[in-house]
Amino acid sequence: MKRKEFLRLAGAAAAGSLLAPDSAVLEAWAGGAGGTRVKVKLYELKLRQAWGLSRGTWTTRRNCYVCIERDGIAGIGEAAPIARYHETAESAAAFIDKARPVLERDLGDYAVRFGEVDAAGPGEHAAKAALDMAVLDWVGRRLKVPLWRLLGLGREKTVTTTYSIGIDEVPVMQQKVRDAGDFGVYKIKVGTSDDRKILEGIRAVTSKPLRTDANEGWKTKEEALEMINWMAGLGVELVEQPLPASRLEDYAWLKERVKIPVFADESLIQASDLPRIAPYFHGVNIKLMKCGGVQEAVRLAGMARALGLKLMIGCMIESSLGISAGAAVASLFDYADLDGNLLISNDPFRGVRTVKDKIVLDDKPGLGVEGDLF
Ligand code: MG
Repeated sequence: MKRKEFLRLAGAAAAGSLLAPDSAVLEAWAGGAGGTRVKVKLYELKLRQAWGLSRGTWTTRRNCYVCIERDGIAGIGEAAPIARYHETAESAAAFIDKARPVLERDLGDYAVRFGEVDAAGPGEHAAKAALDMAVLDWVGRRLKVPLWRLLGLGREKTVTTTYSIGIDEVPVMQQKVRDAGDFGVYKIKVGTSDDRKILEGIRAVTSKPLRTDANEGWKTKEEALEMINWMAGLGVELVEQPLPASRLEDYAWLKERVKIPVFADESLIQASDLPRIAPYFHGVNIKLMKCGGVQEAVRLAGMARALGLKLMIGCMIESSLGISAGAAVASLFDYADLDGNLLISNDPFRGVRTVKDKIVLDDKPGLGVEGDLF
């Protein structure tokens, strides 16, 4: 097997031909055998505003991008690694390197290839999602059909996305809501000791429906119940992950008493979690980066629907590449939270369009994404 070549940036200077003289590209390598060439780049996404959750605040996110070239066709994918599951952009790149032999066979058998990628190692779901996206993009481009068509889906259903408001000082959060005036529903990040002040502040500047996400931030079931039922009176439609993921017995207690639906996010990573957690929630937030890609998200959506759960498709801080992959299957879901690309200022790709708060799928083959990163 031909060895891959590593190219690293020393400061802001480009160290090789794969790297543009752009300080956002941090590391790149390329390698290939069996007629497939795989390129990987790490790229630092810059958030328009500080991104505050109950577990921390970020101004940048480092994601890993992959490009697969075979038979003169390229497919691209994105990994937005999730620190909570011990993933980094570097670990995603290492997994992609490990899974490269899988890509040296017919990519048209994309379901088979996904199974092999998944079996290449445990965890690293964001890297698996990137490879799944890249293979599906390649197949779509080869067959000259958009991904949503390849998967037997349509685009008649209008999918609207929420716009997420990260935790910050209340006046800053109020301004974020004012600046996102086109959106019909906001997803407000909570899970702090100031949640009442935050939500009263948001309510003072908008009468639109709200959804909230505590990211496991509340400490006790009693605190969560009091907050959730208080929020219900404020026009909050649903709440995501109020308590730590492991506390299923507290979720059982909560489910009997809440006035609005409780959705699992951190409690659901992959399909094997679903039968165990389904009785304790009204709905689930499925993300490509959590479960391992488009194919797994579709399978998970079918399972969750069969178990009587409501479905939300969510995202991480992602470029238009990852968001376009999610958008292709969003018609399968009841709710969409696909705004990661709208929260960054240096999106290296152009893909699915969000017109006001509506996601508009186009006819371009594969993911329909263009960009200069590769
Ligand atoms: Mg969430």
